[in-house]
Amino acid sequence: MKVAVLPGDGIGPEIIAEALKVLKVLDLKIEFEHADVGGAAYESSGHPLPDSTTKLALASDAVLFGAVGDWKYDKLERALRPEQAILGLRKHLGLYANFRPAICYAELTHASSLKPELINGLDILIIRELTGDIYFGQPKGRRKAVDGPFVGDDEGFDTMRYTRSEIERIMHTAFKAAEKRSKRVTSVDKSNVLETSQLWRDVATEVGKMYPHIELDHMYVDNAAMQLVKEPKKFDVLVTGNMFGDILSDEAAMLTGSIGMLPSASLNSKSQGLYEPSHGSAPDIAGKGLANPLATILSSAMMLRFSLNMESAALRIEKAVQAVLASGLRTPDIYSDGTQRVGTVEMGNAVVAAIK
Ligand code: NAD
Repeated sequence: MKVAVLPGDGIGPEIIAEALKVLKVLDLKIEFEHADVGGAAYESSGHPLPDSTTKLALASDAVLFGAVGDWKYDKLERALRPEQAILGLRKHLGLYANFRPAICYAELTHASSLKPELINGLDILIIRELTGDIYFGQPKGRRKAVDGPFVGDDEGFDTMRYTRSEIERIMHTAFKAAEKRSKRVTSVDKSNVLETSQLWRDVATEVGKMYPHIELDHMYVDNAAMQLVKEPKKFDVLVTGNMFGDILSDEAAMLTGSIGMLPSASLNSKSQGLYEPSHGSAPDIAGKGLANPLATILSSAMMLRFSLNMESAALRIEKAVQAVLASGLRTPDIYSDGTQRVGTVEMGNAVVAAIK
C-alpha cells in the first residue's frame, strides 16, 4: 500500500509528524511518500498543487493531508491560494463522498456548549456529497446593471443542480456506512421548496428500497439544523448535499466542543481517499508545539479503515486515543482543571505508548 503524505502549512507538518509516528509503530506494510502542497508548494514551485503532487496522489491508495493556508497568501489571486489545492485534489481524485464523524468522548463532554446529557456518547456520521450542488452548477456569475436609464439591478446567481446518478451514488455510500453502524439513515433536503431537493428525496427513497433492513427518514435542512442542537443523539448516519452538508457538518463538529479532535475522509468510487483533520492550518499556534494532533491521528485511523482495509489497526489507534484521554492528558485546546496539559509531541508519544 502506498500513502501520499502532504503536510502543507501552519500546524500541518507538526500534526502529520505525530500521525506518522503512530502509523509507523503499528508496523504496517505501507510505503509513505512526501510532497509539498498549499503555501509550502507555492513557495517551492509557484503553485499550491504542483503536477508532481497530483501525480503522486493519483498513484497512491490514500492521501494523508495536514492543512493548508496562511493569512500571508490572502492577497494572491484565487487560483494560487493554498486552499485551491484541496479543491484540485478533490477534482482530480473524484472524491465525491465526504465523511465527517462527530464523536463526543466521555472525557470531553465539558468542552461542548450543550448540556452533558445531550452530548454524552454522541456518535454521528455526516456524509456530505462533495462534487455537485450549487458550488459547481452552471450557470453561475455576476451581472452588472445596465447603465443609463435604469434596467434591472446588479445580480449574482448560482445554480443548484444534482443528477440522478450523483444522488444514487452518495445514497449507496450512506446505506453501506449505515450497515456497519446502527442501521439508520436520515436524508436531509429542502424538498418543500427546491426541485433539486425533490429529486434528491425521490432518489433517496428509491435507493432505500434496496436496503430494506435499514431505516430511512427524511428531514428538511432547517429542522435538521435545529435537531442537531436540540437532540443530536437522535441521528446516526446523516446524508445530504454539498451545501447543506458543508453547514451541518461544521455545526455537528462544534457540538463536540473541540475542532482539534475531529477527523475527516473524502472518498472516490475506488475507495481511494484523502484523509485530513476537520480544522485548518491554525497559523496562530503554528510552530509552538501547542496543536492537538488527535484529529490527524484519528484521520489516519479512518485511512486504514476505508482505503487500506486494515480495520484492526484502525481500532488500535482509536482505542489508544481513548486510553490517552482517559489517562488525563490534554493539549491546551481541550485542557480543563484536573487534567494534565501536554504539547503536540507529548500527545503523539502518549498515543504511541498506548498502542505499544
Ligand atoms: P483553523 O481551523 O485553522 O483555526 C481556528 C481556531 O482553531 C484557531 O484558534 C486555531 O488555533 C484553533 N485550532 C485549529 N486546529 C487546532 C488544533 N489541531 N489544535 C488546537 N487548536 C486548533 O481556521 P482559521 O483560523 O479560520 O483558518 C486558518 C487557515 O486555515 C486559513 O488560511 C484557512 O483558509 C485555512 N483552512 C484550511 C483548511 C484545510 O486545510 N482543510 C480548512 C479550514 C481552514
